[in-house]
Amino acid sequence: VSERNSPYFRAVLGSIPPYRPGRAVTGPGGRSVKLSSNESPYGPLPSVLTAVADAATQLNRYPDAGAAELITALARRFEVPEDHLAVGAGSVGLLQQLLEAVGEPGAEVCYAWRSFEAYPLLAELSGVTSVRVPLRDETHDLAALAGAITERTRMVLVCNPNNPTGTTVREAELVEFLDRVPGHVLVVLDEAYREYVRDPAVPDGLSLYRDRPNVAVLRTFSKAYGLAALRVGFLVGHPHVAEAVRKTLVPFAVNHVAQVAAVASLAAEDELLERVAATVKERDRVRDALVADGWAVPPTEANFVWLRLGADTMDFAAACESAGVAVRPFAGEGARVSIGTPEENDAFLTVAAAYPTRGE
Ligand code: PMP
Repeated sequence: VSERNSPYFRAVLGSIPPYRPGRAVTGPGGRSVKLSSNESPYGPLPSVLTAVADAATQLNRYPDAGAAELITALARRFEVPEDHLAVGAGSVGLLQQLLEAVGEPGAEVCYAWRSFEAYPLLAELSGVTSVRVPLRDETHDLAALAGAITERTRMVLVCNPNNPTGTTVREAELVEFLDRVPGHVLVVLDEAYREYVRDPAVPDGLSLYRDRPNVAVLRTFSKAYGLAALRVGFLVGHPHVAEAVRKTLVPFAVNHVAQVAAVASLAAEDELLERVAATVKERDRVRDALVADGWAVPPTEANFVWLRLGADTMDFAAACESAGVAVRPFAGEGARVSIGTPEENDAFLTVAAAYPTRGE
């Protein structure tokens, strides 16, 4: 019996592929460069590690279900009221909560495609129908996204910068889009990579949501803050949205160590942002080198670059793997390559330079 034909599981499980996490590989001389999951290449800051070690003495106790200290620290840092905040087990956990909150029979969620791989999986799981709107020139087509909204639409996801292309939507077009979206639709701005944005034309969702009750923002501690292993993210939205999300959280899903590490990271933000600046500098160096070498790489505001490889995608990923560099291929489309340390990026650039084609 597989889950596909079992008498007890929902039929939909048979059609949902498992989430594919970014892999690590080992190459010659034991080299392992993991550029497949858009993680921070740096370990936690010493002050965060100390706080985590201290938090570990409390593991016999349940965590604070309301994450009060973290909520207070977030409210202060982002200048939002506490009742506009909800925390979750990563922003992927918050996405699942949101889909569960809107998911009734017939509900639809619209998003650009290709975008974050978890969107279709989580939608299927919650029984929400996905309406995918193709990217245009690897960028959100907001007019088409607005056109895809029906009376059944409950949520629209806008991933800005977009995973895996790194492309962004600009303030003017996003505002125009938000003004077009009817009030029965919740717009979720997925800003997992916000800290890496340097282009001033890219809006900060935290200013856009304020006058718009049906707009919410997702952020995460997994990328710029370097806490991917601990699973903590947050939502900023109007109180009715934050409250709905709080209700769908599995009790105690955000663990004590994660809460403490997130608070400590906010306290050490200046140091963390130095690391982000280093990644941004490397991102620009990597893209410039690729473009100079003949690759067509869309401008990226995230901590990764997108190589449009078409039919060569899997072969290119295999060439990277042979050199001990793990990237994230999307068969027939392209490869997403995270920005690592300068040495890691050089290892990748060496493989790319030696590759016989430049994709499509
Ligand atoms: N949103 C986007 C666009 C992402 O790329 C990711 C991570 N790959 C997430 C959300 C989820 O991140 P996390 O659950 O670690 O917060």
